Amino acid sequence: MRLIPGYKRKANPSGRDGDPRRTIPLNSAAWRKLRARVLAEEPLCRMCDQPANVVDHANGDPSDNRRENLVALDEPCHNHKTQRQRAGLPVIWGCDADGWPRDPLHGWNVAKKSPAG
Ligand SMILES: [Zn+2]
Repeated sequence: MRLIPGYKRKANPSGRDGDPRRTIPLNSAAWRKLRARVLAEEPLCRMCDQPANVVDHANGDPSDNRRENLVALDEPCHNHKTQRQRAGLPVIWGCDADGWPRDPLHGWNVAKKSPAG
């Protein structure tokens, strides 16, 4: 895998992965519970259908813990996506074998909200 030059994973004593926006620390019981729920619901990586072992914030905002923003990935795909987001590059999700877009934020994958009122 090609790495973004200069990218270095920060030490993680706070469980916030170097990002102060993270509202649920990675080392907390709340995150472990949420992570287990997402991986139980989505056992395969959204990008490549290999067994998933990472729960990712699709929109790159670690404070957005809505279920629709949490996606299961495997580690190579998570690293690829995160490095591209941090470099300001678009993330290319592709589509599955049925032609369905893998991007969790694609309009086809986001439930339409009924208009207020
Ligand atoms: Zn993958």
